[in-house]
Amino acid sequence: MFSSSRSTKRYRCKTAKPRAAGVSGVTARHSRIRGFSQAKLGRARVLAVGAGGIISWLACPLVRKGVGVLHICDGDVVELSNLSRQMFVASDLYKNKAQRLARNLRRQGFCGTQLVAHPYMFEELLASGAVPEADIIIVGVDDDATRLTVMEYCRAHRIRVILIAVSPDADNGYVFVYEPNAACLACVLPDMVISARDGRKPCPGVPACLDILLTVAGFAAYVVDTLLMERPRTWNFRRVFLSGEGQDLAWNVPRRPDCAVCGSDPCQGHEVPKNWRHKNG
Ligand SMILES: [Zn+2]
Repeated sequence: MFSSSRSTKRYRCKTAKPRAAGVSGVTARHSRIRGFSQAKLGRARVLAVGAGGIISWLACPLVRKGVGVLHICDGDVVELSNLSRQMFVASDLYKNKAQRLARNLRRQGFCGTQLVAHPYMFEELLASGAVPEADIIIVGVDDDATRLTVMEYCRAHRIRVILIAVSPDADNGYVFVYEPNAACLACVLPDMVISARDGRKPCPGVPACLDILLTVAGFAAYVVDTLLMERPRTWNFRRVFLSGEGQDLAWNVPRRPDCAVCGSDPCQGHEVPKNWRHKNG
């Protein structure tokens, strides 16, 4: 079992109500958007893997728009260099990222979102059978090994997953969406399997900047809506370049028969490893 010093913390955003009947509520403008369902968003349970540069900005629109439950897992602590591009303040320094992000998000939402902070890496939750139940998992970590582990977990449990990454030169980023029986991340980026299975970690100190993080976070926040309601999306892989030096892509990637992850497995009746259990509730 986990020690009590690394305990799960729970917070809740307030629910802001109009002062008088007939006055617009917090989310009134959403109802004017084609396909938007506030009720479906309010029932959704999302698990964010990582609480750094991508997730901290993606979590902000999720709670402001009114997601029902947001679980956040991350075992890292806030470092000084994080303050330039992650949603932390000086008093968060050297404290657990998941716990501090959830705490900071309390003031970002006005629709009663429940925030649950798990101060652990995804692999630790998996090993202890404590991965919370979620309708959508969002991965915002910077290593392929964790991306592949979550991808495999979601294939086994038939959970939709959004995977987000930015390039080492901070010029471009991608958002990939996996849905059961459709292409997996390795169908579009086959080299990630080699790097993941090598256990290769990203180099510390690579360029990193808030502009590209906010860009991909915005796309990913939109994807959450498309998975829950009738907002349109024609792609499962989106790549954007800030400089314009590369070509932006909005691509509906097909499954690749020779994919090292999903090529030989039709995803039907896929056996779930015994230790890959959900935590109920
Ligand atoms: Zn695949």
